[in-house]
Amino acid sequence: MAETKIPKATAKRLPIYYRYLNILFNAGKQRVSSTELSEAVQVDSATIRRDFSYFGALGKRGYGYDVENLLNFFKKTLNQDRLTNVALIGVGNLGHALLNYNFQQTNSVRISAAFDINKDIANTIQSGVPVYPMAEMKKQLQVQQINVAILTVPIEDAQKVTDELVSAGVKGVMNFTPIRISVPSTVRVQNVDLANELQTLIYFLDHYGSETPET
Ligand code: ATP
Repeated sequence: MAETKIPKATAKRLPIYYRYLNILFNAGKQRVSSTELSEAVQVDSATIRRDFSYFGALGKRGYGYDVENLLNFFKKTLNQDRLTNVALIGVGNLGHALLNYNFQQTNSVRISAAFDINKDIANTIQSGVPVYPMAEMKKQLQVQQINVAILTVPIEDAQKVTDELVSAGVKGVMNFTPIRISVPSTVRVQNVDLANELQTLIYFLDHYGSETPET
């Protein structure tokens, strides 16, 4: 995927397409039209065609898309044909929930190592995942070739832990803390602020009900 420059909005839709194609494939379907795909994933068919066009002509007029071809294509693009190990830093309430969550069910991603400063939890196994003390983080990340980390430490430690992750060679951080962390331009951050998302939902409900607001 690193080679193909695609718009961010398209990249965000790829896992949605992928998930649905998997369902079709498992149900034994051989082809799917863009209209059918559109209804299932709630993306208009013109957008789907445009998204797919970034990868060359994948569909045939009057035939639709070959499910297996498309699935294999997405698998490669999304790196789903290999398992990606990620790390989790901070095994608190949220960290525990994420350790329990089965990422592997729909995506080839698994948390293979967790880290925590708390001596009571370090050197234990939680939900099948080994928890290491922070002193071992750099070594473990390098040995396990992990370059993606999920950050679920308290706000006040978020930047410090991020700096340690960066110096250990991590290239992507999924930041569950509500602060914006600073990273060098070579590192990508995905912010997931659950409280903020909920607040946004409530704001839109209060102001617009279920109508789509003007963008
Ligand atoms: P949350 O619900 O946000 O996960 P919590 O209330 O369970 O949090 P927090 O105090 O937010 O707990 O801490 C989350 C986890 O991060 C705890 O397990 C804590 O031991 C761990 N932690 C705290 N500071 C650090 C740090 N500097 N490095 C690594 N882990 C840390």
